[in-house]
Amino acid sequence: MPYKRCGRSGLLLPRISLGLWHNFGGVDSLENARTMIRGAFDRGITHFDLANNYGPPAGSAESTFGQIFKQDLVPYRDELIISSKAGYDMWPGPYGEWGSRKYLIASLDQSLKRMGLEYVDIFYSHRFDPDTPLEETMGALSSIVQQGKALYVGISSYPPEQTKKAIELLRKAGTPCLIHQPSYSMLNRWIEDGLTQVLDEEGVGCIVFSPLAQGLLTNRYLSDIPSDSRASRNHFLKTERITNELQQQLRALNDIAGNRGQSLAQMALSWVLHNPTVTSALIGASRLEQIIDCIASVENEQFDDQELRAIDAIVAQIQTL
Ligand code: NDP
Repeated sequence: MPYKRCGRSGLLLPRISLGLWHNFGGVDSLENARTMIRGAFDRGITHFDLANNYGPPAGSAESTFGQIFKQDLVPYRDELIISSKAGYDMWPGPYGEWGSRKYLIASLDQSLKRMGLEYVDIFYSHRFDPDTPLEETMGALSSIVQQGKALYVGISSYPPEQTKKAIELLRKAGTPCLIHQPSYSMLNRWIEDGLTQVLDEEGVGCIVFSPLAQGLLTNRYLSDIPSDSRASRNHFLKTERITNELQQQLRALNDIAGNRGQSLAQMALSWVLHNPTVTSALIGASRLEQIIDCIASVENEQFDDQELRAIDAIVAQIQTL
């Protein structure tokens, strides 16, 4: 596994990191979760990404991780980068979401308990809160570092302008912003419209989530909707999104991947990693075989102009669907 420096920090992140949003909840198989985490770590994936609300039920992915950590990973704590976040709806009442100091600090305390950790390596503000002064949210992140509850802090899905301001506030406080976590894939390129420029200028790292478009950019949906797939659950990835027209375009992307000697998932990951701003691609998985397949993407991050143009043409077709 190759590692890349996170912005201008001292921290190296694996090119492929593993997120626990889906398939690590209380409703999922603990044994499968354990197999995936152990198998990923054995292959050099040192970074595991969580959030307070991952499950279902909310909080249970952190509990699952805590159980596996206790069982298998305690001796390796110093080889691991564990992140969590707060920002989305987590508990009832006015203090259970968004970006207040009250919420962020209470939420991290809960996350640490669930995971059985003394500190997380990275703690994120999960989303920009338009109704809380950015000074308060960044002040809370800064306090968290000063209290030793997180080694580094980051922001997720903040638009470019708010990102710039957040970076400035954190720098002034002496607790620099390590990383931004935005969505990014061949099908979702919003970060190219201003955000990557801010991150490059400021020397902040970038770990991109849903690089496989939640599984669309894999072999999962080339001909049907497997009954154990995310789309079959019809919640975060809607079944109606998988039309015959989309499948036809996905098969065309799959052909390009085949010509590169890659699976579609591998090509989709190589494509995000090919962007020089991207530090790490943050994947999800439902089984270890998928993680192993994804890791091989790092063997070929180069694209020629013809391949890039062919991909763009198909993606343009997909955007019209
Ligand atoms: P991906 O786009 O990587 O989608 C993951 C899904 O793709 C898997 O669950 C699996 O689908 C399928 N898959 C993965 N690898 C393969 C493979 N090699 N072959 C075939 N299918 C494959 O990412 P996610 O949407 O899961 O997000 C990744 C992580 O990003 C999350 O766990 C979380 O940590 C973070 N995230 C952060 C957000 C934020 O707001 N900051 C929001 C969303 C995610 P299936 O399960 O159907 O088998």
